[in-house]
Amino acid sequence: MADADPGRSPLERPGTAPAAPHVVIIGGGFGGIACAKALARAPVTVTLIDRNNYHLFQPLLYQVATAALSPADIAEPIRKMLRHQRNAEVLLAEVTGIDTRRKAVLTEDGARIPYDTLVIATGSVYNYFGNDAWAEHAPGLKTIDNARAIRTRVLMGFECAERESNAARRQALMTSVIIGGGPTGVEMAGSIAELARHALARDFRHIDPREARVVLVEAGPRILSAFPEELSAYALQRLEALGVEVRTGEAVEDVTAEGVRLPGGFLAANAMVWGAGIRASPADRWLGIAPDRAGRIPVSDRLEVAGFPGIYAIGDTVAAPGASGAPLPGLAQVAKQQGEHLGRELARQARGASGAVAPFAFRNRGNTAIIGRHAAVFDFGKRRLKGYPAWVLWAVVHVYLLVAFEQRVLVSLQWLWRYVTFQRGARLITGVPKEPQTAQGSA
Ligand SMILES: Cc1cc2nc3c(=O)[nH]c(=O)nc-3n(C[C@H](O)[C@H](O)[C@H](O)COP(=O)(O)OP(=O)(O)OC[C@H]3O[C@@H](n4cnc5c(N)ncnc54)[C@H](O)[C@@H]3O)c2cc1C
Repeated sequence: MADADPGRSPLERPGTAPAAPHVVIIGGGFGGIACAKALARAPVTVTLIDRNNYHLFQPLLYQVATAALSPADIAEPIRKMLRHQRNAEVLLAEVTGIDTRRKAVLTEDGARIPYDTLVIATGSVYNYFGNDAWAEHAPGLKTIDNARAIRTRVLMGFECAERESNAARRQALMTSVIIGGGPTGVEMAGSIAELARHALARDFRHIDPREARVVLVEAGPRILSAFPEELSAYALQRLEALGVEVRTGEAVEDVTAEGVRLPGGFLAANAMVWGAGIRASPADRWLGIAPDRAGRIPVSDRLEVAGFPGIYAIGDTVAAPGASGAPLPGLAQVAKQQGEHLGRELARQARGASGAVAPFAFRNRGNTAIIGRHAAVFDFGKRRLKGYPAWVLWAVVHVYLLVAFEQRVLVSLQWLWRYVTFQRGARLITGVPKEPQTAQGSA
């Protein structure tokens, strides 16, 4: 390492000219990995930069947060994923900017990674709409650390409740509030309710975990607002059957260590989870361009950033026009398809084909949300599916097709077995925080 020049990509050894056009991809999520893989046989060198050394399968994060899966089940080292791709290298680094004039990516440790073509695939973060202090008490569900913190919080709540003699404090320790009634909120609420009512039901002597309170708060008039009304009504009915309290039309006014303030009063709680909105990564600032209201950078239907030839952006961090002209939603399937498309097109160009990147057309494989065990909703646009068949479709097709891991068959089977048998193999409390603080009394 001593002779390494921090200003150079390892591909650009001192004294040697890069052998082939250099494609730099920032972000090893769904979009970035798909793009890198699609360039596998192209006459280019690919550098994929990520702040983490692993690719994270975010759609299953809620299963880590509720002890159904371990972090290692839903993450795969990026190096391993690109191990056999001889034209690709992986750099572990935090990107902090882009020098568009000199065509270089800037990293936190002071390196400049030169590029000929740049692909930005940096995803999104949770948006607290100006209340960033709430993040400490109500983490979003975006990273493995978030999921572990939530899991520890929920499990510690039951442990402390087992030893608590005051009834109001005991109830607060067994109360979870999920803020935001989108797919993540619905999945978290259903999964925490099942954890309490099934997996933990017989493990304690002084409390009955089935008395745990799970509250899902949504500011809008209905949960799953991006889905047709029929499917959101079904989700509501299923959540209520699981014992989840769903409160619509209530915007959270404050979040503290003791609970959340709602229009009707204070709700004392132990675990709080934020799922009320996302904001794109700061790529807009790196390029010095105006984003849309969700912080996304505008790209053409060819996925190129206007005014920056040779710079493309994909996935959650962009507002890319769909068939109707409205921006495509922030979904793994959108990011993955964009990455595959862009990689194929860049490979075609590298082989000498003329013409710009062809316009991207999204093929909707269905928008979905899981509501506890055995139930899901699927919206394919013109067709809809709900209940058990939707859950099977999600488990078999959605997860299996999206996961690009080598051991995906094993992970899928392992997950399916734990899910069907109510086993929660990952119920470890790690990185124990200070004891949950709880207030008495609730809305
Ligand atoms: C809890 C949850 C459940 C979801 N469920 C579904 C679902 O069921 N179906 C579905 O289709 N979609 C789902 N999504 C959405 C889906 O995960 C995203 O749309 C998808 O991950 C976007 O892919 P991406 O490649 O744009 O970004 P990501 O997958 O987020 O990847 C971005 C990558 O960029 C890296 N990065 C970011 N900034 C930097 C930086 N400055 N320097 C270096 N690296 C950086 C990150 O480490 C990350 O690896 C869910 C999301 C969440 C959070």
